[in-house]
Amino acid sequence: MARIFCIGRNYAEHVRELSNVVPQKPVVFMKPMSCLVKPGEPIRFPGHGSDFQHEVEVVIRIGKPGRVERKEDALSWIDAVTVGLDLTLRDVQDELKKRGLPWEKAKAFDQSAPIGEFVSCHGGIDLKGIAFSCRVNGVERQCGSTGDMIFSFETLLVELSAIWALQRGDLVYTGTPSGVGPLAVGDTVEIHGEGIGTFSWKIVA
Ligand code: ZN
Repeated sequence: MARIFCIGRNYAEHVRELSNVVPQKPVVFMKPMSCLVKPGEPIRFPGHGSDFQHEVEVVIRIGKPGRVERKEDALSWIDAVTVGLDLTLRDVQDELKKRGLPWEKAKAFDQSAPIGEFVSCHGGIDLKGIAFSCRVNGVERQCGSTGDMIFSFETLLVELSAIWALQRGDLVYTGTPSGVGPLAVGDTVEIHGEGIGTFSWKIVA
């Protein structure tokens, strides 16, 4: 069964804005597939926290099973790409981090993974320079490029698949650039990926 892998701390400016340390190895956590939300579906403000934040991320989809032994082969595992949101309850995460506890309550709750529509990688999209952004109520909050990732797609797939043999349909949320910030009831959050599309969700009570 396919899984959702998420990469933390993969853009240097975002690492700095949360006062974290640039990691030596990718930071990995997971969300269940039940967290996915299709474009346009209303997202309920979660009841177990208050600082509900957007993290726009490029999401890759795995097209074949196995372990990636060599970086040179890694991109052949990716069959499609889109943008998504790694929705995070930052107040809950800060409390869990302080106490050394797992992050699921802050990161893997229902509707925490809005996802755009996938675009095939075989249409010539340049994975190394995808520009992507996030707007809230029409105001830009985040923008980035996959060219700025600390760990490239190739490195991520080698590192992930050394631990979890990849499965067809696995998704990888590949980290967020700086500018993460709060969402409120009534907000519309819109994300865009160049060559991919624009997708939006409304936050409801
Ligand atoms: Zn994230």
